[in-house]
Amino acid sequence: MYDYIEKVLISEEELKEKTIELAHMVSNDYKDKKLLVISILKGGFVFTADFIRALSIDVTVDFMSVSSYGAATRTSGVVQIRKDLDNDIKGLDVLICEDILDTGLTLSYLKKILIARGAKTVKICTILNKPDRRVADIEPDYVGFDIPDEFVVGYGLDFAEKYRNLPFVGILKPEVYAEY
Ligand code: 5GP
Repeated sequence: MYDYIEKVLISEEELKEKTIELAHMVSNDYKDKKLLVISILKGGFVFTADFIRALSIDVTVDFMSVSSYGAATRTSGVVQIRKDLDNDIKGLDVLICEDILDTGLTLSYLKKILIARGAKTVKICTILNKPDRRVADIEPDYVGFDIPDEFVVGYGLDFAEKYRNLPFVGILKPEVYAEY
């Protein structure tokens, strides 16, 4: 069925179990707090949808879409906000929900913006983490899986806007890239 997939790295079942585990930890840690989950579009939406439904505490949800300005500013980590939050975050405990933490440049910049806007706390929850790729001085507070330095798709993650809908995290066959 998935004949463009070289290897399944993390199965649907493993993702489900880990997401529930993370949601239990967060529910416990944010029991008496005003939790705002910020889902980072587009990749973070699949994980966020599963994650918030496994929380046992009250939560509000907002969305942001960010992108790097390009090669010149890549190392500085300056990002362009393509879609901003709908509401004020002053005094809220913010949890950023992300698909993957790679170099960390995007989220380290975003974290500074959210703190400057008056969030009480800003933490990061990511389902995937590539520790070997880190450039920015930032670590996730909640991590699903540490993965090796390989390009992955599925569970929200795309290649050329495709494969976000795969229920697992996998690696594409090399010939898929050759088509581009
Ligand atoms: P960074 O942490 O480098 O600032 O950026 C993280 C973003 O890079 C993620 O939100 C995702 O969009 C993209 N990214 C990093 N690694 C991968 C990967 O293995 N697969 C896909 N599809 N996107 C990735």
